[in-house]
Amino acid sequence: ATPTALMVGTGRGAQLGILIKGPEVLESTRRIDTVVLDKTGTVTTGRMELHDAVPGEGVTEDELLRLAGALEDASEHPIARAIARGARERAGAQAPPLPTPEGFENLAGLGVRGTVEGRAVQVGRAAGELPARLAEAMTAAESAGRTAVVVSWDGAVRGVLTVADTVKDTSAQAVRELRELGLTPVLLTGDNRAVAEAVARSVGIEPTGSAVIAGVLPEDKAGEVRRLQAEGRTVAMVGDGVNDAAALAGADLGLAMGTGTDAAIEAGDLTLVRGDLRVAADAIRLARRTLGTIK
Ligand code: ADP
Ligand code: MG
Repeated sequence: ATPTALMVGTGRGAQLGILIKGPEVLESTRRIDTVVLDKTGTVTTGRMELHDAVPGEGVTEDELLRLAGALEDASEHPIARAIARGARERAGAQAPPLPTPEGFENLAGLGVRGTVEGRAVQVGRAAGELPARLAEAMTAAESAGRTAVVVSWDGAVRGVLTVADTVKDTSAQAVRELRELGLTPVLLTGDNRAVAEAVARSVGIEPTGSAVIAGVLPEDKAGEVRRLQAEGRTVAMVGDGVNDAAALAGADLGLAMGTGTDAAIEAGDLTLVRGDLRVAADAIRLARRTLGTIK
C-alpha cells in the first residue's frame, strides 16, 4: 500500500463522515467477512421511552413508578433514564420529587439496587419465576421488541416496566448494503433473546444460527467476538457503549458510533461521526477501493 493512496482514502473518509485513527486502519478491512452490530444505540436510537407500568398484586402504579424511578434516577443507563423520566412525567408537575436512594449499586448488564423509602429495591433482568400476569406482560412486550425489566422490593416481585426503543430508519438499508458487500451481519446484545430477534427481523436479519447473540453480559461481548474469530471469521464490530469498548478493541476492525460514549470512540479504529450505520458500509467500500488501487 502506498502511503499516498492511504492518505487519499483517509481524506475521502473524512468527507463521508468517517474519522480514521491512522491510514493503516484501512488495511485491516481487507479480509472482513462478518459485521457484529450492537443493538442498543447502534441499530436502535437508544433513546428509550417508558411504555408501560404493570404493577403486581397489592401495588399501585404510582408506588411502582416512584420506587423504581427514584432508584433509576441514580443510573446513566438508557433504560434507567427512560424509567426516571417516565416516572416524573406520569406523576405530574404537582407531585413531590422522587426520593433519593441510599446505598445505590449498579450491576453492569443486570440492573440496579438500593434502598428507597426504607425498602430494598431492585430493578433489572428477571431472575426466576414471575406471577402469571406479569410474565404475560413481559412476554407481550418482548415479542414486540420492547425491553421489560422487573421491579422487586423487600424480596418480592412488585411489577414490570417496559421501555420502547426505536430502530433507526437507516438500519435496514445499512444491513442490505453490508450484505451486498458480501458481509454477514450478526446482532449482539445484552438484551433478552425475544427483543433481539424482533429487532433483528425488523432490519432484515433472520435470527437463525449465530445471527443473533442475546443476553450477553458486558464483560462477555469481547468473548463473543473472539469466538467468531476462532471460527475463522474476520470480524468488524460496530458499537457505541462503554460495554462495547472491549469488543471494539478486540475486533479486527472496530467502528464506533460518533454519537456514542468516549470509551467506545477511544477503543474503535474508526468513528462513524453521525452515528449512521450505513456509513459502516461506506467505510468498508472505501477501504476496498483505496486498497484496490494499490498493487
Ligand atoms: P445492551 O447490550 O443492549 O446495551 P446492557 O448490557 O446495558 O444492554 O443491559 C442488558 C440488560 O440488563 C438490559 O436489557 C436490562 O434487562 C438489564 N439492565 C441493565 N441496566 C439496567 C438498569 N439500569 N435498569 C434496569 N435494567 C437494567
Ligand atoms: Mg449500545
